Amino acid sequence: MSKIQLLSPRLANQIAAGEVVERPASVVKEVLENALDAGADRVDIEIEAGGVKLIRIRDNGSGIEPDDLPLALSRHATSKISSLEDLEQVQSLGFRGEALASIGSVSRLSLTSNDSDEGSRGQMAQTEGRDMAVDVRPASHPRGTTVEVRDLFFNTPARRKFLRTEKTEFNHLEEVVKRLALSRYDVNFQLRHNQKVVHNLRAAASQQEMERRVASVCGPAFMQQAVFVETEVTGLRLWGWVGLPTFSRSQADLQYFFVNGRVVRDKLVAHAVKQAYRDVLYHGRHPAFVLYLELDPAVVDVNVHPTKHEVRFRDGRSVHDFIFRSLHRTLADVRPGDQTAPAVGPTVDRETGEVRQEGLAWGGEQSAVAMAAAPPSAFVPSRAPTSGQVTGQMQGYAALHPQSLPEQDTPEDVPPLGYALAQLKGIYILAENAAGLVLVDMHAAHERITYERLKSARESEGIRSQPLLVPQAVAVSQREVQVAQDHGELFASLGLELAVGGEESLLIRQIPVALRDSDVEQLLRDVLADLIEYGSSDRIAAHMNEILSTMACHGSVRANRRLTIPEMNALLRDMEETERSGQCNHGRPTWTQLGLDELDKLFLRGR
Ligand code: ADP
Ligand code: MG
Repeated sequence: MSKIQLLSPRLANQIAAGEVVERPASVVKEVLENALDAGADRVDIEIEAGGVKLIRIRDNGSGIEPDDLPLALSRHATSKISSLEDLEQVQSLGFRGEALASIGSVSRLSLTSNDSDEGSRGQMAQTEGRDMAVDVRPASHPRGTTVEVRDLFFNTPARRKFLRTEKTEFNHLEEVVKRLALSRYDVNFQLRHNQKVVHNLRAAASQQEMERRVASVCGPAFMQQAVFVETEVTGLRLWGWVGLPTFSRSQADLQYFFVNGRVVRDKLVAHAVKQAYRDVLYHGRHPAFVLYLELDPAVVDVNVHPTKHEVRFRDGRSVHDFIFRSLHRTLADVRPGDQTAPAVGPTVDRETGEVRQEGLAWGGEQSAVAMAAAPPSAFVPSRAPTSGQVTGQMQGYAALHPQSLPEQDTPEDVPPLGYALAQLKGIYILAENAAGLVLVDMHAAHERITYERLKSARESEGIRSQPLLVPQAVAVSQREVQVAQDHGELFASLGLELAVGGEESLLIRQIPVALRDSDVEQLLRDVLADLIEYGSSDRIAAHMNEILSTMACHGSVRANRRLTIPEMNALLRDMEETERSGQCNHGRPTWTQLGLDELDKLFLRGR
């Protein structure tokens, strides 16, 4: 007997299931995607015991022709593509034709469907992890399809052992539903677990309805602190919501990126987003976003991975660049008054009932209640010193901005950050604006202003660089030499002059003055690695920015410095003008708003 044998269809399916069906969540993903591909606008998902016992998904899509029913359950059977050209243009979520076969090989699966409007003409097909022997019989079902998956992995005990608790499995599964719900606003989704409704998301058409869905999927705090983005260049469109840097997370758990409606977790995309937040995010924090990239399906390959979570862009570099630029601009443009201020109002956690500070994700202890508990004397306006007592940088504020006359302004004329009332403990400025009380951390705010000024000065004056007495040789690979040559102009524009020293060697001839105390060799290596991987790198600029940021920090007004009211007002006006002024250079918030209604709540004052 020959040693090489064809695998039985059942074993082949079980092997494929190893890739595609990892846990209940993967079943939900595949079955839901089929429902969406079938044009359903309503899907009901019923789960028992985290999906291990039962997953039942009913849709009102096109349904399956009776003759096709057994085929739907066999491997490499799909109605979605029939040629390589189709694959290159594929718009459906599925196309590999292996999901149902794989799931059927590791569970008890039944597929009931009707492609007509006569409810009695439905058919049901069943498999039980068997050799794809499918029996079909009549069953009543409205137009659409119901897939029922029971006892997942009942015949593959090794797989079953890898399953976690019911709650964990359900969380994974819920995440799948959330992603798909964010990818299709036009579809109604209902998710039930052990007979309880967990999500009931109604189809959303208007921007407001869409935002409501995002809020129920990502939490209301995200929506309150997110800005809407929409940018377009030829062939590329990016839209969605990005969380303000002050709404950062300790984990990368609120990041949704869709490419042509398909959720992806892509390295290139992740890098572009991270880079856009680089200047405004507190170290080690993760941004939150729900973003949609739309481009010609022909220039993105989705057939890179069985679960299709990764994609390959034909021109990855311009996609990276586009995402980075769009987000970078959006984040820079956020000014006081454009959006809801980083709220200090406490919110109640829906699940635990725990009261917490959603806005200032890292400042849980500094609750609005604690602020109000400060003795009233702390709010007594400080006696403004005469300007002669003020030294250093802050004098500029008084000189540039003479007295403003707040009393004469009508409410509409009040600037976003309002007018200063007093200084608290030499750290905070208290100001009054149309909404109520504004609190500003004056050092943090001034630091950002100084930093942005230093950056624009560098942009207008150009980067100063100095030649090295002895060029520094750096051993690199041939590929890196090539990349360095290809990007010669980029390096030159950053003040770094390179020359080829040999087949595997580069020479650093000239470096930016700002980097004279830095490890330029390491920086160069990192930049080359970025260029190879992502086609771009902002490391040099980021590193120079870090140096400017340190300079700004030292050059900025220190805590415990008394400021006059005009100086404080001048600082507020500067904040309104300055890019990214909502966060200090380290990503901490520079100001917050306590609205009148929040104050009223603190004092139990009904209105
Ligand atoms: P693929 O989605 O890659 O085509 P599947 O194994 O997931 O492969 O499904 C096989 C086929 O069964 C699909 O191509 C489709 O024709 C049919 N099918 C599966 N689920 C549904 C559904 N909910 N509604 C209509 N047709 C379906
Ligand atoms: Mg499918």
